[in-house]
Amino acid sequence: MRKAALKLAGWGRTTYAACEAARPERFGEAVAGFAADAGQNGICLYGAGRSYGDCALNSGGTALITTRLDRILGFDAQTGIVQVEPGVDFRRLMEVFLPRGWLAPVTPGTGFATVGGAVAHDVHGKNHELDGSFGQHVTAFDLLLPDGARRTVVPADGDLFAATVGGAGLTGFITRIEFRMKRVPGGAVRVREHRAANLAAFLSAMRDAAGASYAVGWIDAAARGAALGRGILETAEPIEGVFAQPPERARRVPFEFPAFALNRFSVALFNEGYFRRVPPDGRTRVVPWRTFLYPLDALHDWNRIYGRRGFVQFQCVVPFETGARALRDLLEVISASHQASFLAVLKRMGAGRAGFLSFPMPGFTLALDFPRCAGLEALYARLSAITLDAGGRVYLAKDALLDAASFRRMYPEFPHFAAVRQAVDPERHIQSDMARRLRLQDAP
Ligand SMILES: Cc1cc2nc3c(=O)[nH]c(=O)nc-3n(C[C@H](O)[C@H](O)[C@H](O)COP(=O)(O)OP(=O)(O)OC[C@H]3O[C@@H](n4cnc5c(N)ncnc54)[C@H](O)[C@@H]3O)c2cc1C
Repeated sequence: MRKAALKLAGWGRTTYAACEAARPERFGEAVAGFAADAGQNGICLYGAGRSYGDCALNSGGTALITTRLDRILGFDAQTGIVQVEPGVDFRRLMEVFLPRGWLAPVTPGTGFATVGGAVAHDVHGKNHELDGSFGQHVTAFDLLLPDGARRTVVPADGDLFAATVGGAGLTGFITRIEFRMKRVPGGAVRVREHRAANLAAFLSAMRDAAGASYAVGWIDAAARGAALGRGILETAEPIEGVFAQPPERARRVPFEFPAFALNRFSVALFNEGYFRRVPPDGRTRVVPWRTFLYPLDALHDWNRIYGRRGFVQFQCVVPFETGARALRDLLEVISASHQASFLAVLKRMGAGRAGFLSFPMPGFTLALDFPRCAGLEALYARLSAITLDAGGRVYLAKDALLDAASFRRMYPEFPHFAAVRQAVDPERHIQSDMARRLRLQDAP
């Protein structure tokens, strides 16, 4: 496997890793490369690099980039089961299958993520309450273990399945994934946008919309006082008919924005306009699937908006029982910090999860970006502490700053994960910067 010295980054561009990277095109080459001696810092898998922090980074080690392993291997139109290589991404799935009336059952908010990355974080979508996590739709995968053995793993296999789904790539190289697609009646959704004047109204609108096929909220994280937690809730239902998806050719952010472009005043101004674009009694629109599911993909390299300093995303989930209070506390701390960006999302989650380290739990999930600035670590620690006190957890796919002790308390099934990892990779052939930071390497 040909390797080259490369500096890889997390999507937030605050975490970097100088490593030896390979992007094999042929499957045999990838298998041999994975099995080869990876040196002291081991090897890690890297999909499309859409995780925000350091889970796919391996400083001083090797990275195996999977994006060229991107063949669709088979599809059964009776059952909807598709088989893919791990580098197939969600844009490709939509391009190939939507015209035939099928859609990925669960998809993250970017079509650039690969299916391998989706399994490794057991990703959720805007339909989590109804359709669960991605891993719950996986019927089998092939796993290349660090000792070179190949296993086909099905949900009934128990621990190896549950440690790999959501396991941040630490149990082996997922080389083939089989999952069930979902039937859709047409190429668009009917989106209803509701304006909520504050957090209580937002939570009640979300409760009323709990039966919607898809639901996602934008929240004004800069709002304070009586307007704290105001935002817009979008609910969506699939509709029949052929609709052109917007062209793949998207606009690109041409350069890194200067640090001053994004400040408390520009964010407040943007948020005010964004909130008021929806009339007080709401509005309804018909939107192609791609626009609804992947709104940010229309602007390539949008992470450059944060400039050279980069940004960190904080995403937590807090249980319904403690959630209203915790969200209020989180939003108060965030708005008082004046550090939040305009990208802030609030959703409900259901119980669906397929792995020991899967993120979802029934509750509210809040995700928002913070440009890197002085004091960000302390702010993140405060938000993590509120989350922990409420019985919630932080999402590893977005994280770059959590500490190992908080991680252990947020993920009580870690010992099960660690036991599988110890069994399949006692030498710690697979490593990552996140694994070292959060001590995912530790023996059970
Ligand atoms: C704009 C945006 C919106 C997002 N929205 C959502 C959302 O709504 N819901 C959600 O859940 N997530 C969301 N995410 C996060 C994203 O879905 C996950 O981080 C996903 O894992 C990224 O996939 P990737 O292909 O980029 O993988 P990478 O980021 O490159 O890697 C992610 C992890 O997968 C492992 N991995 C990759 N390939 C393999 C393989 N073949 N075998 C074993 N391990 C592997 C890596 O080691 C790493 O631990 C979003 C990200 C962005 C940028």
